[in-house]
Amino acid sequence: MAAFRTGSNGDSVLQNFDYFLVLDFEATCDNETRLMPQEIIEFPVLKVNARTHVVDSIFHQYVRPLFNPHLTPFCTELTGIVQDMVDNQKCFPEVFKDFNQWMEAEGLLNPEIKSIFVTCGDWDLNSMLPRQCETSRVRSMSYFSRWINIKKSYADVTRTFPKGMMPMLTGLRLQHVGRHHSGIDDCRNIANIVVELMKQGYVFRENGRLR
Ligand code: AMP
Ligand code: MG
Ligand code: MG
Repeated sequence: MAAFRTGSNGDSVLQNFDYFLVLDFEATCDNETRLMPQEIIEFPVLKVNARTHVVDSIFHQYVRPLFNPHLTPFCTELTGIVQDMVDNQKCFPEVFKDFNQWMEAEGLLNPEIKSIFVTCGDWDLNSMLPRQCETSRVRSMSYFSRWINIKKSYADVTRTFPKGMMPMLTGLRLQHVGRHHSGIDDCRNIANIVVELMKQGYVFRENGRLR
Protein backbone atom coordinates (compact mmCIF):
# COMPACT_ATOMS: atom_id res chain seq x y z
CA MET A 1 0.00 0.00 0.00
CA ALA A 2 1.46 3.35 -0.95
CA ALA A 3 1.62 5.79 1.91
CA PHE A 4 0.55 9.35 1.25
CA ARG A 5 -0.48 12.36 3.23
CA THR A 6 -4.12 13.41 3.20
CA GLY A 7 -3.26 16.94 4.20
CA SER A 8 -1.90 19.06 6.98
CA ASN A 9 -5.24 19.50 8.72
CA GLY A 10 -4.55 16.84 11.32
CA ASP A 11 -6.13 14.10 9.26
CA SER A 12 -4.38 10.80 9.39
CA VAL A 13 -2.21 9.36 6.66
CA LEU A 14 -2.39 5.91 5.20
CA GLN A 15 -0.10 3.53 6.99
CA ASN A 16 1.78 0.51 5.68
CA PHE A 17 0.17 -1.63 8.38
CA ASP A 18 -3.42 -2.49 9.26
CA TYR A 19 -2.67 -2.93 12.96
CA PHE A 20 -0.05 -1.87 15.46
CA LEU A 21 0.41 -4.40 18.25
CA VAL A 22 1.65 -2.34 21.18
CA LEU A 23 3.51 -4.60 23.60
CA ASP A 24 5.22 -3.89 26.92
CA PHE A 25 6.52 -6.71 29.12
CA GLU A 26 7.10 -6.38 32.84
CA ALA A 27 9.58 -8.77 34.38
CA THR A 28 11.00 -9.87 37.73
CA CYS A 29 13.60 -7.46 39.04
CA ASP A 30 15.39 -6.17 42.10
CA ASN A 31 17.01 -2.93 43.05
CA GLU A 32 20.72 -3.72 43.15
CA THR A 33 21.02 -7.28 41.88
CA ARG A 34 20.14 -8.64 38.47
CA LEU A 35 17.72 -11.55 38.80
CA MET A 36 18.79 -14.61 36.84
CA PRO A 37 16.95 -15.70 34.93
CA GLN A 38 14.75 -12.66 34.60
CA GLU A 39 11.15 -13.74 33.88
CA ILE A 40 8.16 -12.07 32.24
CA ILE A 41 5.36 -11.42 34.77
CA GLU A 42 3.01 -9.26 32.67
CA PHE A 43 2.19 -9.80 28.99
CA PRO A 44 -0.03 -7.05 27.59
CA VAL A 45 -0.69 -6.27 23.92
CA LEU A 46 -3.06 -3.66 22.47
CA LYS A 47 -4.29 -4.15 18.89
CA VAL A 48 -4.46 -0.61 17.52
CA ASN A 49 -6.35 -0.10 14.27
CA ALA A 50 -4.11 2.00 11.98
CA ARG A 51 -7.11 3.41 10.10
CA THR A 52 -9.50 4.26 12.96
CA HIS A 53 -6.85 4.67 15.72
CA VAL A 54 -9.08 2.63 18.01
CA VAL A 55 -7.88 -0.21 20.27
CA ASP A 56 -9.86 -3.05 18.70
CA SER A 57 -8.73 -5.81 21.06
CA ILE A 58 -6.53 -6.44 24.10
CA PHE A 59 -4.46 -9.43 25.18
CA HIS A 60 -3.50 -9.16 28.83
CA GLN A 61 -2.25 -11.85 31.18
CA TYR A 62 -0.09 -11.88 34.28
CA VAL A 63 2.46 -14.68 34.29
CA ARG A 64 3.66 -16.78 37.23
CA PRO A 65 7.47 -16.75 37.45
CA LEU A 66 9.08 -20.11 38.22
CA PHE A 67 12.70 -19.35 39.11
CA ASN A 68 12.03 -16.38 41.38
CA PRO A 69 8.41 -17.05 42.34
CA HIS A 70 8.36 -14.36 45.05
CA LEU A 71 8.28 -10.83 43.72
CA THR A 72 10.71 -8.47 45.42
CA PRO A 73 9.29 -5.42 47.20
CA PHE A 74 11.23 -3.36 44.65
CA CYS A 75 9.45 -5.10 41.75
CA THR A 76 6.01 -4.60 43.32
CA GLU A 77 6.80 -0.96 44.03
CA LEU A 78 8.02 -0.42 40.45
CA THR A 79 5.30 -2.26 38.53
CA GLY A 80 2.35 -2.27 40.92
CA ILE A 81 2.19 -6.04 40.48
CA VAL A 82 1.55 -7.71 43.85
CA GLN A 83 2.20 -11.36 44.65
CA ASP A 84 -1.50 -12.25 44.39
CA MET A 85 -1.58 -11.11 40.78
CA VAL A 86 0.98 -13.73 39.68
CA ASP A 87 0.23 -16.58 42.09
CA ASN A 88 -2.08 -19.12 40.45
CA GLN A 89 -1.55 -17.58 37.02
CA LYS A 90 -0.37 -19.65 34.09
CA CYS A 91 3.37 -19.93 33.57
CA PHE A 92 5.04 -18.54 30.46
CA PRO A 93 4.68 -21.46 28.00
CA GLU A 94 0.91 -21.55 28.52
CA VAL A 95 0.51 -17.79 28.25
CA PHE A 96 2.66 -17.85 25.11
CA LYS A 97 0.28 -20.43 23.60
CA ASP A 98 -2.73 -18.34 24.61
CA PHE A 99 -1.14 -15.35 22.94
CA ASN A 100 -0.69 -17.23 19.68
CA GLN A 101 -4.34 -18.31 19.85
CA TRP A 102 -5.32 -14.67 20.33
CA MET A 103 -3.22 -13.73 17.28
CA GLU A 104 -5.06 -16.39 15.31
CA ALA A 105 -8.52 -15.41 16.61
CA GLU A 106 -7.84 -11.76 15.77
CA GLY A 107 -6.95 -12.63 12.18
CA LEU A 108 -3.38 -11.49 12.74
CA LEU A 109 -1.87 -14.69 11.31
CA ASN A 110 -3.61 -14.05 7.99
CA PRO A 111 -0.82 -12.95 5.61
CA GLU A 112 -3.14 -10.41 4.03
CA ILE A 113 -3.46 -8.55 7.32
CA LYS A 114 -0.36 -6.45 7.94
CA SER A 115 0.57 -5.99 11.57
CA ILE A 116 3.72 -5.18 13.49
CA PHE A 117 4.68 -4.97 17.16
CA VAL A 118 5.45 -1.59 18.68
CA THR A 119 7.63 -1.36 21.78
CA CYS A 120 9.35 1.40 23.73
CA GLY A 121 13.00 0.49 23.15
CA ASP A 122 14.33 -2.80 21.79
CA TRP A 123 14.54 -4.66 25.13
CA ASP A 124 11.16 -6.46 24.95
CA LEU A 125 11.71 -8.31 21.67
CA ASN A 126 15.47 -8.16 21.29
CA SER A 127 16.40 -9.31 24.77
CA MET A 128 13.60 -10.27 27.19
CA LEU A 129 11.49 -12.48 24.93
CA PRO A 130 14.40 -14.47 23.42
CA ARG A 131 15.80 -15.06 26.94
CA GLN A 132 12.37 -16.08 28.27
CA CYS A 133 11.90 -18.54 25.38
CA GLU A 134 15.30 -20.03 26.14
CA THR A 135 14.53 -20.28 29.87
CA SER A 136 11.13 -21.87 29.16
CA ARG A 137 12.52 -24.03 26.36
CA VAL A 138 9.87 -22.91 23.90
CA ARG A 139 10.35 -21.82 20.32
CA SER A 140 9.51 -18.21 19.60
CA MET A 141 7.26 -17.21 16.71
CA SER A 142 8.53 -15.52 13.56
CA TYR A 143 6.13 -12.60 14.01
CA PHE A 144 8.24 -11.50 16.98
CA SER A 145 11.36 -11.05 14.86
CA ARG A 146 10.56 -7.53 13.59
CA TRP A 147 9.12 -4.52 15.33
CA ILE A 148 8.87 -0.77 15.60
CA ASN A 149 10.85 0.88 18.39
CA ILE A 150 8.68 3.92 19.07
CA LYS A 151 11.70 5.87 20.34
CA LYS A 152 13.25 5.69 16.86
CA SER A 153 9.95 6.71 15.24
CA TYR A 154 9.70 9.63 17.64
CA ALA A 155 13.27 10.62 16.73
CA ASP A 156 12.36 10.49 13.02
CA VAL A 157 9.68 13.09 13.68
CA THR A 158 11.33 15.34 16.26
CA ARG A 159 15.04 14.81 15.48
CA THR A 160 15.53 14.12 19.20
CA PHE A 161 16.19 10.62 20.53
CA PRO A 162 14.08 10.27 23.70
CA LYS A 163 15.34 8.65 26.91
CA GLY A 164 12.02 6.91 27.55
CA MET A 165 8.25 7.01 27.36
CA MET A 166 7.77 9.94 29.74
CA PRO A 167 9.88 12.42 27.71
CA MET A 168 7.97 11.40 24.55
CA LEU A 169 4.63 12.08 26.24
CA THR A 170 5.89 15.46 27.45
CA GLY A 171 7.35 16.30 24.04
CA LEU A 172 4.03 15.53 22.35
CA ARG A 173 2.01 17.26 25.12
CA LEU A 174 0.16 14.06 25.89
CA GLN A 175 -1.20 13.36 29.36
CA HIS A 176 0.31 10.30 31.02
CA VAL A 177 -2.43 7.81 31.88
CA GLY A 178 -2.35 5.17 34.64
CA ARG A 179 0.72 3.97 36.46
CA HIS A 180 4.20 4.11 34.95
CA HIS A 181 5.75 0.59 34.71
CA SER A 182 2.37 -1.15 34.79
CA GLY A 183 2.61 -3.08 31.51
CA ILE A 184 -0.96 -2.50 30.42
CA ASP A 185 -0.82 1.21 31.31
CA ASP A 186 2.54 1.58 29.55
CA CYS A 187 0.88 0.05 26.47
CA ARG A 188 -1.93 2.64 26.66
CA ASN A 189 0.58 5.48 26.77
CA ILE A 190 2.70 4.02 23.97
CA ALA A 191 -0.48 3.59 21.89
CA ASN A 192 -1.33 7.26 22.51
CA ILE A 193 2.13 8.19 21.18
CA VAL A 194 1.58 5.98 18.11
CA VAL A 195 -1.76 7.69 17.41
CA GLU A 196 -0.33 11.18 17.92
CA LEU A 197 2.55 10.51 15.48
CA MET A 198 0.00 9.19 12.95
CA LYS A 199 -2.04 12.38 13.40
CA GLN A 200 1.10 14.40 12.71
CA GLY A 201 1.42 12.59 9.38
CA TYR A 202 4.18 10.16 10.27
CA VAL A 203 4.20 6.92 8.28
CA PHE A 204 5.51 4.12 10.49
CA ARG A 205 8.15 1.72 9.26
CA GLU A 206 9.86 -1.28 10.78
CA ASN A 207 13.04 -0.24 12.59
CA GLY A 208 13.93 -3.21 14.79
CA ARG A 209 14.81 -6.76 13.84
CA LEU A 210 16.29 -9.88 15.44
CA ARG A 211 19.78 -10.60 14.25
P1 AMP B 1 9.26 -0.86 31.78
O1 AMP B 1 8.59 -1.37 30.55
O2 AMP B 1 10.04 0.39 31.58
O3 AMP B 1 8.19 -0.68 32.80
O4 AMP B 1 10.27 -1.93 32.30
C1 AMP B 1 10.24 -3.27 31.98
C2 AMP B 1 10.98 -4.07 33.02
O5 AMP B 1 12.32 -3.61 33.12
C3 AMP B 1 10.42 -3.97 34.43
O6 AMP B 1 9.34 -4.85 34.66
C4 AMP B 1 11.64 -4.34 35.24
O7 AMP B 1 11.86 -5.73 35.25
C5 AMP B 1 12.77 -3.70 34.45
N1 AMP B 1 13.04 -2.35 34.98
C6 AMP B 1 12.53 -1.17 34.54
N2 AMP B 1 12.98 -0.13 35.25
C7 AMP B 1 13.81 -0.65 36.19
C8 AMP B 1 14.61 -0.12 37.25
N3 AMP B 1 14.66 1.20 37.49
N4 AMP B 1 15.33 -0.98 38.01
C9 AMP B 1 15.30 -2.31 37.78
N5 AMP B 1 14.58 -2.88 36.80
C10 AMP B 1 13.84 -2.08 36.02
MG1 MG C 1 8.78 -1.37 28.62
MG1 MG D 1 6.50 -1.23 31.23
